[in-house]
Amino acid sequence: MTNTTDTVKEVDYEQPQRETAAGAAVCATKHAWARVPAEPAPAERAALKDKIRRLLREKNAVMVSHYYVHPDLQDLAEETGGLVSDSLEMARFGRDHTAQTLVVSGVRFMGETAKILSPEKRVLMPDLDATCSLDLGCPVDEFSAFCDAHPDRTVVVYANTSAAVKARADWLVTSSCALEIVSALKDKGHKILWAPDRHLGGYIQRETGADMLMWGGSCIVHDEFKAFELKALMKEHPAARVLVHPESPADVVALADAVGSTSAILKAAHEMEAQEFIVATDSGMMHKLRTLNPGKLFLEAPTAGNSATCKSCAHCPWMAMNCLADVARVLETGANEVHVDPALGLRARIPIDRMLAFTAALKGGRDAGSLVPLIGAA
Ligand code: SF4
Repeated sequence: MTNTTDTVKEVDYEQPQRETAAGAAVCATKHAWARVPAEPAPAERAALKDKIRRLLREKNAVMVSHYYVHPDLQDLAEETGGLVSDSLEMARFGRDHTAQTLVVSGVRFMGETAKILSPEKRVLMPDLDATCSLDLGCPVDEFSAFCDAHPDRTVVVYANTSAAVKARADWLVTSSCALEIVSALKDKGHKILWAPDRHLGGYIQRETGADMLMWGGSCIVHDEFKAFELKALMKEHPAARVLVHPESPADVVALADAVGSTSAILKAAHEMEAQEFIVATDSGMMHKLRTLNPGKLFLEAPTAGNSATCKSCAHCPWMAMNCLADVARVLETGANEVHVDPALGLRARIPIDRMLAFTAALKGGRDAGSLVPLIGAA
């Protein structure tokens, strides 16, 4: 919901399109928008937090927030018994929690995934228009045609997709588990059709050697990190270690001391002995990194420079749409409930459940190669 004090930001993103005759991929630039909520004044901010704490108790609700949303929504989730995490753990937590209402602060696909896994629960989001360039850039009709053209391939999609695209997939992955799942599929002889993020797909392909045919989408935030400018910053901070999310371009990933999901970045920052880090992921992560590592210095990897377009300036415009006022409003009124067609949800749940079973088995100490019953031969 747009208030009079909010502003609107125009956002360009890439949508890959397949030319059927030659089979070549081309990208079209598309336009979207994101609302920029006004920051509340200190007194209003405190009052909104109190209201949310009360409403969570009254409504038997729990907050599930992503690392990239406003620090207030991260802190409030943790303080009230909810969760701040990556999309894999958000999905698992929402499914397993006893609360009947989940308030998901993040982007649309996260709310949809929560609803698919907990169809009996009420899932609310601060803003249903909070989307993702990867989701927008992978419309189901085009993607289905791409899958139909390659029936010999196992379809692996990233979590950042619509319920309809998930329903077309054999496997779902997040950046926390993509390497292990693709590697296990490769070992069983599967050729892979991957969507939608080309940088993450490229990283997985380089690491595993799997045969992967790519959809060419990208994240508008991570796509903007610049290797040339990153090298210059590394020269200024020679002791700094570089932590990179694999949605970043390959030349940025090549400069990393550690590559991984948001959770992996947090773990690396905690475990490495270095006192300085340069971080190539959404700047929303800085809150958690700094809170958990008070003695360490965290610098944002550059998105500016000679070739900069600065569509996002390292902060997702759609994650930024989540705000305290809307969390309070949806809890109070029940507005912004996420709905997923039940039949579509049942189909979309299959690849999600496979991923959750696979990662639970890995967590339980089984190595990826032993998870044969979950994979099946090509
Ligand atoms: S940061 Fe990138 S991948 Fe994440 S929601 Fe925003 S656009 Fe999508």
